[in-house]
Amino acid sequence: MQDSTLKSGKCPKCGSSEVYTDSGKDKRGERMQLVISSWKWYFLDTYLCLGCFHFEEYVPENEKLDEKIIKKIKETWKKVN
Ligand SMILES: [Zn+2]
Repeated sequence: MQDSTLKSGKCPKCGSSEVYTDSGKDKRGERMQLVISSWKWYFLDTYLCLGCFHFEEYVPENEKLDEKIIKKIKETWKKVN
């Protein structure tokens, strides 16, 4: 495991440890969502560095991306590399 994400509690960009997250909060009605389709979306955990405002978002670890969803992403999203 690499520690180069905000999840480590230390910002990989500026080195600040002023990292906050809304992980575990009740997020119903909030806007940070990963929308796969009209029938499936996830509320995301956001990690934010208050030193440089770098932020990262993650699908919560207790959520499983099943094969149907992975297929949908591969069909509709663009691969980075
Ligand atoms: Zn930072």
